[in-house]
Amino acid sequence: MKSGDKQYAVIGLGRFGLSVCQELQQAGAEVLAIDIDEDRVRAVAGFVSQALVANCTNEETVAELRLSDYDMVMVSIGADVNASILTTLVVKEAGVKNVWVKANDKKHSKILHKIGADHVIMPERDMGVRVARKMLDRRVLEFQELGSDLAMTEIVVGSRLLGKTLGDLALCKEQGVQVLGFKRGPDITKAPELDRTLEIGDLIIIAGPRETLSRKLSSL
Ligand code: ATP
Repeated sequence: MKSGDKQYAVIGLGRFGLSVCQELQQAGAEVLAIDIDEDRVRAVAGFVSQALVANCTNEETVAELRLSDYDMVMVSIGADVNASILTTLVVKEAGVKNVWVKANDKKHSKILHKIGADHVIMPERDMGVRVARKMLDRRVLEFQELGSDLAMTEIVVGSRLLGKTLGDLALCKEQGVQVLGFKRGPDITKAPELDRTLEIGDLIIIAGPRETLSRKLSSL
């Protein structure tokens, strides 16, 4: 991600806001971190471009922050729903084009959309969906121990791997890992070509050092 030329502001430095700040800053973006709580601001001051104590439900304060100069503003206030809604309203009215807001639930999300939030995130729900997809995609069958720390296993292709090629998975680049076979429907191919495009339900049979296989599979 190349974000060095973009400016972001994050309002609310709970766990979510904090990790947004960290990720943006690490990607090279300019980040302004804001919280009403001095301790939270102090905790991020060392690694973001700028950190400020401010109450963002206050129109004059927000106007002074000139947030409309920022490419994106994230409102990540969860516990205090009133503050979240009011901050979103004030920030939108201050002319910020792209406001992303964290919501606790569907009702909160609906209100945020109505008052002009450009994008609403529900971290628990969104993460649950992502994790479930990942779990489905990693439907890895049991490891079959081959002795000397070697094992054989099968990967069932799910939606995340759909459209990739066997080569994209870079399985053979791992030390000692071999793709033994490929199964689509009743057809089994031994030592398959790496440019083969994956479809849901395909089975990839691999063997190699147990630890390397586990590490590789958890990164897919
Ligand atoms: P999580 O920690 O999981 O992200 P959360 O959003 O409920 O959950 P909180 O601890 O409520 O976490 O974080 C919200 C942050 O927003 C707090 O640090 C709080 O001080 C800050 N905050 C609340 N009201 C305002 C406001 N009016 N202006 C700026 N910051 C605010």
